[in-house]
Amino acid sequence: MTAQIIDGKAFAATVREKVATHVARIKEAQGITPGLAVVLVGEDPASQVYVRNKGKQTVEVGMNSIEHKLDADTSEETLLALIDDLNKDAGVHGILVQLPLPDHLDEDLVINAIDPAKDVDGFHISNVGLLGTGQKSMVPCTPLGCLMMLRDHHGSLSGLNAVVIGRSNIVGKPMAQLLLGDSCTVTIAHSRTKDLPDVVRGADIVVAAVGRPEMVPGDWIKPGATVIDVGINRIDAPEKGDGKTRLVGDCHFDSCAEVAGAITPVPGGVGPMTIACLLANTVTACCRANGLAEPDGLTA
Ligand code: NDP
Repeated sequence: MTAQIIDGKAFAATVREKVATHVARIKEAQGITPGLAVVLVGEDPASQVYVRNKGKQTVEVGMNSIEHKLDADTSEETLLALIDDLNKDAGVHGILVQLPLPDHLDEDLVINAIDPAKDVDGFHISNVGLLGTGQKSMVPCTPLGCLMMLRDHHGSLSGLNAVVIGRSNIVGKPMAQLLLGDSCTVTIAHSRTKDLPDVVRGADIVVAAVGRPEMVPGDWIKPGATVIDVGINRIDAPEKGDGKTRLVGDCHFDSCAEVAGAITPVPGGVGPMTIACLLANTVTACCRANGLAEPDGLTA
């Protein structure tokens, strides 16, 4: 069997179109422009690239992009004061603090200082609790993107066996909650899981969020299963020339694609969906803040 490729790049473009349509509607009917504030502390090169991409795509869908770039030695007090200002700013509907923060800043403290209604990353403890109890919340962007692709592919997920490999707060745990919310039977695997290959072989849906290049081979995959590969790992690629690298996922793509029914590639799978879902969360937050109807299909 050769798997259907789930094209995250194309899917993300349709999500951005839906967001742009909804933004235009809100602007015209209400005179409100959704605004996303992104706070970057320090000069981590990868974070700078992410922040630039987020700002660019925010503007492309018609929203306001507000960027705050702070020095690496910014004090916690200054950062918290900025977040307080953004919480009070009616023109800001979403606030994202780019992680990781420099070591002297307490990430939990900073994230939990964001107004939960504006917490478009879905990391605030209130949103974690709301998601865990099946209530309306802001949902972390990467798992939300995975859920959208799974719903699109399967229709109903009810009763399917899902194995999530990885139990991080930003991917594994919220992913498991979302799958449970859609009535999957969910197993969360991690570094201490016994007989991981056998656990994965029972899955109709495998979500790999580990951070280990090509760890999951095709012979762990049940024939016809859907494989969502969240991993982004850069490895050496001597075949491309000296010093060259390439991106791979946590699943061994070629062997998994031989067995799976559907699979997301890396790059071009989950990655593009993450920023698209950030934009979706921002327009959702704006609608909720103003008592407006939320766009269909952009939330959990
Ligand atoms: P973390 O490092 O926070 O978590 C990794 C998880 O994998 C942990 O729960 C760990 O278990 C588990 N794990 C590690 N080794 C094994 C093993 N041998 N067998 C089973 N489980 C194992 O990573 P993240 O969740 O932040 O990210 C995971 C991957 O997803 C990374 O490659 C990251 O780059 C990528 N990512 C991609 C995004 C996107 O937009 N596409 C967004 C976010 C992340 P334990 O808890 O026991 O240590």
